[in-house]
Amino acid sequence: MGNTWITNIQHFLNEHGDIGDLPGPALNLANHITLIIEEATYYNEYEPRMTTIKCRRRPRRRKCTGNIAACIDKDNPGQILWFCPVCDDNGIITGWESTIYNNLRHGEFN
Ligand SMILES: [Zn+2]
Repeated sequence: MGNTWITNIQHFLNEHGDIGDLPGPALNLANHITLIIEEATYYNEYEPRMTTIKCRRRPRRRKCTGNIAACIDKDNPGQILWFCPVCDDNGIITGWESTIYNNLRHGEFN
């Protein structure tokens, strides 16, 4: 079984709105989360879609071969849902709407 990661990306952002210079493990997680936000918001759809993002888990010390699937939560559009179909690592991302990683923002503001 994978873990469920519930992350509010706002907790990882600095005053410039990016992930700046976090310590190693937090930076790795923040990179993972921001990539998922970018890909999940690239298509404005609620169906999980395979991303180019590799799973970061290492079950039994072997790197998981899965790619992350992600989408905006149809029932709660303030959340992005993601999961690895291979190891079932999964998570919920909140606080993403106002970030620079949200592709849905493009074109909304003049
Ligand atoms: Zn995996």
